[in-house]
Amino acid sequence: MIERFWLFHCGYARIPRFAVIEDGGWEWIRLPFLAGLAEHSEYGPVIVDAPFGHEGPANLGMAMGSFMQLAGLEFEVRWSIVARVEQLGFRPADVRHILMTHLHYDHTGGMKSLAHAQFHVSSREWDYATDGSLGGLAKSAYTQLDYRSLDKHTLRHDDVPHLADSQKGLDVLGDGSVEMFSLPGHSPGHCGYRIHLASGPAVFFAGDVAFTVDQIYEREGLGFFPRNVATSKGGIEVSLRALRRHLGAQDDRVITSHDIELGRRCIEEGPQLYGEG
Ligand SMILES: [Zn+2]
Repeated sequence: MIERFWLFHCGYARIPRFAVIEDGGWEWIRLPFLAGLAEHSEYGPVIVDAPFGHEGPANLGMAMGSFMQLAGLEFEVRWSIVARVEQLGFRPADVRHILMTHLHYDHTGGMKSLAHAQFHVSSREWDYATDGSLGGLAKSAYTQLDYRSLDKHTLRHDDVPHLADSQKGLDVLGDGSVEMFSLPGHSPGHCGYRIHLASGPAVFFAGDVAFTVDQIYEREGLGFFPRNVATSKGGIEVSLRALRRHLGAQDDRVITSHDIELGRRCIEEGPQLYGEG
């Protein structure tokens, strides 16, 4: 059973709004790198994505790294994934499960700092992310050094149902507390996690299916990054439609990894709590 869920940022970048939001203009905004921690009564802290270890966003690679450095990348050691686990009152050594939405560098930088845990990822994402022949933009989004050595600690899931095809996801932890859904397009094996809390609505951690929650609801369009990093624009549309339909039928609280408003709250107020305190 999962009692609580916290959302927090592990860093943010200052970028012009149009990079995230279609026709967003040149206003400078803070693009957060968000991750989550679910408190499981049996398994302890379950982490969703692992952006940035103590060394910070040093994993960004040449192209993306220099762009982000130019744009203004904000990172403090106390925001790293291990520090976050401690701040929320847990021991990093007690982390047993880490749920990965996908393996882009801004979600994987802290994986090695929790290398004792088991990582969950779709087989499709793992196979793509470890393919040595990757080229171009697709390649620049992956830093294989973050996860290559963790293959024995990575549980690759073959049969993750697409949210468009199934209302029931893969039971990742075996007790029905977390459902894993395939939501590809942003990357080939991108997944979302539906986290059931002991009380109150479920949390749907949708990763980078869109960058902002408003994009899921079609209140704003995808900007330069989400459109150009995507491996399949058609795939994104199918995933977004499925998620929109799901959210129309369920009372879930949806989270994206780079939502500007959720990020603002995390940056200004600290970790955001979902579920009973
Ligand atoms: Zn991302």
